[in-house]
Amino acid sequence: MIAPSTAGGAPAAAPALPGLPYVQAISPYQPGKPIEELARELGIPVDTIVKLASNENPAGIPASARAAMLAAVADVNRYPDGSAYALKEVLAQRLAVPADWITIGNGSNDILEMAAAALLAPGRSCVYAQYSFGAYALATQSRGARAIVVDAIDYGHDLPAMAQAIAADTRLVYVANPNNPTGTVLGARALEAFLEAVPADVVVVLDEAYNEYLPPELRYDAIAWVRRFPNLLVSRTFSKAYGLAGLRVGYGVAQAELGGLLNRVRLPFNVTSVAQAAAAAALQDAAYVQKSFEDNRAGLQALSAALTELGLQVIPSFANFILFRVGPAARVYQELLARGVIVRPVAGYGLPEWLRVSVGLPQENARFLAVLPAALAAARAIAAAA
Ligand SMILES: *Cc1c(COP(=O)(O)O)cnc(C)c1O
Repeated sequence: MIAPSTAGGAPAAAPALPGLPYVQAISPYQPGKPIEELARELGIPVDTIVKLASNENPAGIPASARAAMLAAVADVNRYPDGSAYALKEVLAQRLAVPADWITIGNGSNDILEMAAAALLAPGRSCVYAQYSFGAYALATQSRGARAIVVDAIDYGHDLPAMAQAIAADTRLVYVANPNNPTGTVLGARALEAFLEAVPADVVVVLDEAYNEYLPPELRYDAIAWVRRFPNLLVSRTFSKAYGLAGLRVGYGVAQAELGGLLNRVRLPFNVTSVAQAAAAAALQDAAYVQKSFEDNRAGLQALSAALTELGLQVIPSFANFILFRVGPAARVYQELLARGVIVRPVAGYGLPEWLRVSVGLPQENARFLAVLPAALAAARAIAAAA
């Protein structure tokens, strides 16, 4: 843009904005490319694009949640229940904990942020793993705290090393199980041993965004650990297996003292009335979640078999996406986009040779797999010519 000329002399230099240096240093979160954006760029209809980039539930919203939302719409002239009483009651019953152990968030990302707001500041540090969810780095940086990033082991968390890495100024540790973007899983015994090793004045956030996708033999009772460890916060979401990503609802479970800390930094009315109603309905929709689980298992199997067949390295996944290695990932990503398929580049996670693909509907997975060989060939031809 051209600045309007001022009469005569040079325009005065704009005063610098007083942004905090550690905020200035943040690289903003890069979300998956929206379908509408790619449709505009390619000049093709929205419904010809397949988006497998944000680990959303491809099944569409639960019918139970849709009905609850429509009913709740009638009251949107009113503020929501700021204490989310009804949703907390359903959760408290389900988890067999007191309602004041539950904090409702605007997505579980909000819970992760509340923990950082309550516990991190300049002069404090936060421990998390290499290749773990990007929100941990953002939450740490935006509070001016020091990040202690612990090297991954086989692309997953090295829990003993993370316990070792806790410093005198560490107040928070983030652990994702399963992890995003790698899909790796931690065993119950390793997690329990970690919780026992962490000092009582360090809070552990156990991020279970993909918990519902765990196969039965890998499930464990994290809520029993909440009863045992006053420094444990378990976070979960309605964005993935419950199919409500656009509504932004998640929750944290912690004993009342830690929950009370979160509640002090929680924004008033952080979750809409429509979202609260939908989440309460979805939580009771066991059939929807069970079908999501089963469809996801089948999709994971189909994708990982086909990717392996193409000679690509695949990290065995316990979530609803797969990380796979293609070499020139930025180019393969572009070639997939040109063919109407959106996946997720993960160079920002330090994985420049990898892409992450979410499990979609069977026909979406098939479409991705159908265009992938040509995208790989085109990307490799460009790389070879360069
Ligand atoms: C998707 C995701 C979340 C949370 O998403 P919300 O939509 O904010 O609930 C949290 N942690 C991980 C590891 C995720 O992948």
